[in-house]
Amino acid sequence: MIMEVDVAVIGSGPAGLTAAIHAHKNGAGKVLLLEREEELGGILKQCIHNGFGLEQFKQDFTGPEYAERLIKEVERTGVQCFLNTLVTDLSSDRVITALSPEHGALEIKAKSIVLAMGCRERTRPSVGIPGTRPAGIFTAGVAQRFVNIDGYLPGKKVGILGSGDIGLIMARRLTLEGARVIGVYEIMSYPGGLKRNIVQCLNDFDIPLRLSHTVTEIRGKERVEGVVVSKVDGNLHPVEGTEKLIECDTLLLSVGLIPENELSEKAGIELSAATKGPITTEVMETSVPGIFTCGNVSTVFDLVDYVAQTGAVAGTFAARYASAKVSGSKQSVDVVAGENVRLLFPQRYGFQDDLVLFVRAAEPVEKPVTIEVAPPGSRINRPYARPNEMLRVKIPKGKLAEVKQPIRVSIREK
Ligand SMILES: Cc1cc2nc3c(=O)[nH]c(=O)nc-3n(C[C@H](O)[C@H](O)[C@H](O)COP(=O)(O)OP(=O)(O)OC[C@H]3O[C@@H](n4cnc5c(N)ncnc54)[C@H](O)[C@@H]3O)c2cc1C
Repeated sequence: MIMEVDVAVIGSGPAGLTAAIHAHKNGAGKVLLLEREEELGGILKQCIHNGFGLEQFKQDFTGPEYAERLIKEVERTGVQCFLNTLVTDLSSDRVITALSPEHGALEIKAKSIVLAMGCRERTRPSVGIPGTRPAGIFTAGVAQRFVNIDGYLPGKKVGILGSGDIGLIMARRLTLEGARVIGVYEIMSYPGGLKRNIVQCLNDFDIPLRLSHTVTEIRGKERVEGVVVSKVDGNLHPVEGTEKLIECDTLLLSVGLIPENELSEKAGIELSAATKGPITTEVMETSVPGIFTCGNVSTVFDLVDYVAQTGAVAGTFAARYASAKVSGSKQSVDVVAGENVRLLFPQRYGFQDDLVLFVRAAEPVEKPVTIEVAPPGSRINRPYARPNEMLRVKIPKGKLAEVKQPIRVSIREK
């Protein structure tokens, strides 16, 4: 089947749902949402804990409740949704190839496209843990799906490598389901997840967090029987003589998320080495005109509210592009990382809107800091800067009109 649409959105998590709603609100006539799973909502379907939507809806929702809000809004708009539809290819001239049992092979020509495919988890090969290859090693998100959707408990005595938010949430979830979580082992000297999750998911359940520790061996033949954990030095190398055998039947990995970037690569979109997602302007437009991006496919955000916020911008500007009111950024300057900045989003400024920057510190600073954005020379104070908590700052469009050179963002002690 060959179709023509104004705006096509790929992925129906909070980013894609919000983008579709905002494309519709901004006048796009035919908006099509493509989702490979059988239901809308993305990863939120398996996030049954609360803490979603505090910023956007001023309410404390579970993941499915938050998704439901957006799904109901999409249903009111008349946005067309194709479920069970896997997008397999994307070209730079905005032709989408997709497969679905209901519609068969699809070729969709879109005036503009929003990428909202989310992110995936890093796995054992990406961190290279030596040892045997028994059953009982899961990424934290897979374990989350087993427990919350399929109703299986993946193990009874669990060690967790990495202190990313999904691992912390699963430490609490598995404890509530009757498993014993022996400890969370984090290679860095600071936690990977949000402070609120350390407190509510570990401290409240007396689950120890061992910073500057990693798993150096997995033991067991058919099933995991234990893992060896070691201290690491300042260069993150295991310190000899510090090995300790932890008996467990399960190891969860919570060692980072990466944007789903295959379709972006196929369309020839320029990717950022730091975020692994598309290089994007403040209106979420990628290096390919008319292709926009939002949510965790762009960069891995801490909060679903940030994901939805980028979805709103991407949907709005994709609709404008489709109706030829805005034909993409004609000029742009780079936004570059300065002192103590590990990653930045967006990486370009195209003079179309306010610049809302998401910044991650390279090293923790537990004192008041100033985020310096120069030009235009804006200085924004924050009580601290931690790599595990994204900082968000907004520079109004009016302040940036005369900017000619790259915008440098730095984090300095105040
Ligand atoms: C495994 C996992 C567990 C998580 N658990 C939590 C949690 O407990 N708490 C929390 O706050 N955050 C969690 N997150 C972070 C979560 O990603 C964000 O909070 C939020 O859901 C991101 O929204 P999104 O719309 O960008 O992506 P997602 O919610 O991931 O949605 C992306 C959607 O795109 C679809 N898609 C991808 N590729 C294609 C394709 N080629 N064709 C068609 N459809 C496609 C996917 O099926 C999915 O529905 C988790 C992330 C992962 C990866």
